[in-house]
This record gives sequence, C-alpha cells and structure tokens, in this order.
Amino acid sequence: MNELPSFFTVLGVIFVIILIILAILLLISIILVYTIIKKRKIIFPHATLFLLDTLYYPLKRLFVSLNLDETVVDKIQIGIRNKILGDKYFTSKIKERIVVFPYCLRTTECKAKVSPEVGVKCLKCGKCKIGEFKEICDQSSIKVFIAPGGSFVKRVLKRHPNSSVLLVACHVELNEMMKILSAKGIPEYGILLSKTGCIETDVDMELVKEKLFEART
Ligand code: SF4
Repeated sequence: MNELPSFFTVLGVIFVIILIILAILLLISIILVYTIIKKRKIIFPHATLFLLDTLYYPLKRLFVSLNLDETVVDKIQIGIRNKILGDKYFTSKIKERIVVFPYCLRTTECKAKVSPEVGVKCLKCGKCKIGEFKEICDQSSIKVFIAPGGSFVKRVLKRHPNSSVLLVACHVELNEMMKILSAKGIPEYGILLSKTGCIETDVDMELVKEKLFEART
C-alpha cells in the first residue's frame, strides 16, 4: 500500500521532466525559426526539419496563442525540403517529372470531371491558368494532375513511382504533401500559391514553368 504514493510521485516527476524537455525543444525551435527568418538563410537544415516535424502541432498552436504568424512553420519546412530534395529534382529528367496542382486553382466555372485515379480531367478550356500550362506540358509529354485532396499525390505515385514531382499548393497542403514524398525519398520541389483560399487561388505560373524546365547537372 505504501508503494502507491511513490509510484505516482515517480510518474509525476517523469511527467514534469517531459514537460521541461518539450518546453526547451519548443524554445529551440522558435529560436531556429526566427534566426532563419532574420538571416534569410536556412541553418542546420536536417536538425531544424526534424524538430519542426516532431513539434509541428504544439509549435503551430504556440504560435497561434502568441499571436504570431503560424504559416512560417510550414514555409520554413517547405524551404528546407526544397533545399534538401531540390537537387535530386533538378537533376532528374524533365520528361520524368510530373506536376500536381491544387483543386482550388481552377475557376468555379470549371466543367472538368473528377476521377479518384487521375484527379480533375482538365479540358483545357482556357478559363483558368492550368489549361494553357497543361497544353505546354502535353507537348513535352509531362503529366499534369489537379489534386482533389492532399493524399491524392500518394495515388499518383503508385501509378508513376519513378517520377520527380513539382508540387503547387497552399502552405499547409504543400508541407503535408512534401512530407509524404520526402519520407519516400522522392525528388520534389514545392511552390507556394501566391493567393490562398478555398476557391480561385493563384500561383505565379512563370515560376512554375521555370522550375519545371530547370535542369541542373
Ligand atoms: S482549364 Fe482545365 S482546370 Fe481550368 S477551368 Fe478549364 S477545364 Fe477546368
């Protein structure tokens, strides 16, 4: 009977130690995030990415509760993944690249049908930026997908496992998709939307073209 209090005491001590470690790691993460923003340079990419991946939800919650811009967490993770996996992407063959756009980039007048396997089947109607871009890609035999959701990219890769992927999305979706691909070691490069929201978003299509056709040796 006397052992019960000491058992709970040990549990309490372990809990407090975990809380202290968590608080220290969160503090280190915030310092890293703000150093990266201030210096405009990614430092300790692998360690920073590991910390931000591990503490993603508590860190975002902390940023929100401190009234700070929580999108910087995603943006830094995206920047680090672009740095780490970008080289593999840019040295991949252009014909082996695929492009994945978000569903929200289309106009609300889009008449294209959606299939679970290939996503939105763009008709190249010209009512949004995707049509013209798809036409250019079709001429170069590069596949373009319009994803109905973040997990769609997994289905695409089952069908095209040896592809390199150029992803376009908002910070949360892009970070999530890049996390999925980087866990599989797939060459990838991510471009953030220039205008976010749930409908009729926008992206710098010249930048997308530039990154799609950029080749490094
Ligand atoms: S170009 Fe394609 S995606 Fe854009 S509105 Fe037309 S069919 Fe839809």
